[in-house]
Amino acid sequence: MEVVRSLAQLKSALLPYRNARASIGFVPTMGALHAGHLSLLTHAKAHMDCSVVSIFVNPKQFGPKEDFANYPRQEEQDLALLAQHQATIVYLPEAQEIYPPNHQTSITIKGLSERWCGENRPGHFDGVALIVTKLLLQVLPQRAYFGEKDFQQLVIIKRLVTDLNLPVDIEGVPTLREESGLALSSRNAYLSPKERLIAPQLYRTLLQIKESLLKGGDPVESCTLAREELLLKGFEGVDYVGVCHPETLEPLPFLQGEARILAAVRLGKCRLIDNLPIFTQ
Ligand code: AMP
Repeated sequence: MEVVRSLAQLKSALLPYRNARASIGFVPTMGALHAGHLSLLTHAKAHMDCSVVSIFVNPKQFGPKEDFANYPRQEEQDLALLAQHQATIVYLPEAQEIYPPNHQTSITIKGLSERWCGENRPGHFDGVALIVTKLLLQVLPQRAYFGEKDFQQLVIIKRLVTDLNLPVDIEGVPTLREESGLALSSRNAYLSPKERLIAPQLYRTLLQIKESLLKGGDPVESCTLAREELLLKGFEGVDYVGVCHPETLEPLPFLQGEARILAAVRLGKCRLIDNLPIFTQ
C-alpha cells in the first residue's frame, strides 16, 4: 500500500497503472474508518485493478456551527485498517492541495441540494459537490464508490457526474449496519451508552414505515406518525421523515414503483440519517 500526501505524489503513484491501462477504483472518505467504508473498498477491489482511498475532512461541507473541529481523526488506525484490507493507494491530501489560495469556484446542484438534508445544512452539498469533483479530477478513476447510507449525497453525485460529463461511473453500495440495525457512521462515536440504546430505533421506525406503506398506508400519514414515535422513543428532534422519488428526491403523495424512505434525527451531539428502499407495484 502506498501512502501519498500531495497531488504530485498521487500522480506518480498512479502512473504505472495508467500506463498499463489498469482499471482504477476510487473510494473518497473523511476517515475514522469503519466496516461501512471498508465495504466500499471491498467492492472496488473486487472489480478494479487499483483501489485508491482518500481521507480528507473537507471543511467546506461543514456549517459554521457543525463539528468540523471535533470530527473524529484517527490517521494511524485508518492506515492500519486500509493496509489490512489491501488498498493500493491511500491519498491524504493537505488542505492547500485541495483549496489553493484565492480559490473562487463553487458548484451548486439546485433542487436536489435544497431539500431534505439541504434544508437543515445549507451549503453542505455545495461543499460535497466541490470536493468530490476535485478528487475525481485528481484521481481520474473509471469508477467511484459511494454509500447508500448518504442517499441524497449519492443521488446528487450521480446528477453532478451526468451534468458535467465527468468520465466516471458512480456505484452505490448498500448500507452496512450494526446487529442492532443502526447504520455504521463515524459520528456514532459521539453517542453516549444511553443514546446507543435509542439510536437503533431509527432503523426500526423506517422498517415500520415500509411495512405500513406495503400494506397500502398513506406516505404522508405514515411519516407523521413515525415522527411522533421517534420523539416518544427518545430522539430529541426530527429534521425530517419522508418518502421520495429515488432520483428526483421529490416527496411522493402516493406510491407506485420505486421510492426511498428518508429520515434525519437528533440525538445528543449526533445528527443521525438513514434511509430504506421500497418498491410497490
Ligand atoms: P464519510 O467518511 O462519512 O464521508 O463516508 C465516506 C463514504 O462511506 C461515503 O460514500 C458514505 O456514504 C460511505 N458510508 C458511510 N457509512 C456507511 C455505511 N454504514 N455503509 C456503507 N457505506 C457507508
